[in-house]
Amino acid sequence: MTVTEPSDTAAAPLVATAIDVVAAIDVGGSRIKAALVDRSLRVVTRTTEPTPPDIAHDVGTVVAGTVDRLVAASEKDGTPVRLVGCGVVVPGLVDEGTGTGLLSVNLGWRDLSIRDLVRATVGVPTVVGHDVRAGLLAEVRLGAARGARHALFVPIGTGIAGALMVDGAVLTAGGWAGELGHVQVESDGPPCPCGGRGCLEVVASASAIARAYAARRQSAPDSQSAADNPSATQHAVDARAVAAKVAAGEPDAVAVWQRAVAALARAVLATITITGIDLVVVGGGLALSGETLLAPLRTELEALRTFQRPPRVVLAELGDRAGCLGAACLAWDVG
Ligand SMILES: [Zn+2]
Repeated sequence: MTVTEPSDTAAAPLVATAIDVVAAIDVGGSRIKAALVDRSLRVVTRTTEPTPPDIAHDVGTVVAGTVDRLVAASEKDGTPVRLVGCGVVVPGLVDEGTGTGLLSVNLGWRDLSIRDLVRATVGVPTVVGHDVRAGLLAEVRLGAARGARHALFVPIGTGIAGALMVDGAVLTAGGWAGELGHVQVESDGPPCPCGGRGCLEVVASASAIARAYAARRQSAPDSQSAADNPSATQHAVDARAVAAKVAAGEPDAVAVWQRAVAALARAVLATITITGIDLVVVGGGLALSGETLLAPLRTELEALRTFQRPPRVVLAELGDRAGCLGAACLAWDVG
């Protein structure tokens, strides 16, 4: 047996060697999720901060402040870093080619040159991406879609987004690709904020499911107290609560759920038919309901499918970290 003794003559260096990292920043409507990530996509340090309400006026300064705090935290933890790049992902319409936020209603910008503004303040090469397309990239590199060449990523939460990879390339089309939430699934369905009617998002998002369930319970004959106080009902029932009722077989919940799943299956099958993808990765808050969502979605897809390849339908693995990790992938890809 060999015992290694500490050597007096070979003392450990007092200053650790700085490791190369990129700053990965996911700017959301309410929170900024950020991390320093090394070349092997290992997270060195991370933080979550509230999104300042006026970020549209000062995105460069906001991102630089977050990066400074990350670097300071890492050094305090004894891991000095050398910042070699920055990836920023944002919601809305994004032109990755020019690094421009074309439109974000939530964040209040239009045609914002995010890449130039961040590069000027952070001082390193910067790449800008779309949060959901970046999330797909992260799921392909590190998560549920590892190794996939053709995939659809569908995060379902307040809204429904989509990102597509075909032949190993994430489709962008100047920022316009993947708007799955605005595919019409019911010609006489509810109006959508986009100006359309019966879009997938107003039928099958977590918010839509909660709204539809609340409306159904209010009109039910046994819900007098709910009818007296509809706003309390609206807030009391979220989509996860509906999912729990579905699992318990509650008829109103099952009806609302089936409608949402049928709509989702229609939109997903149309996407499969057009693009030939063979993997569907479901994410977002509604994915937390797991097989309560995926099992009927698989069944419905199988019922609708004719000649198309049978897709694998799986849950996303990276949760709300996908966008941030995707930002790191983008930053390292250009580095
Ligand atoms: Zn719409």
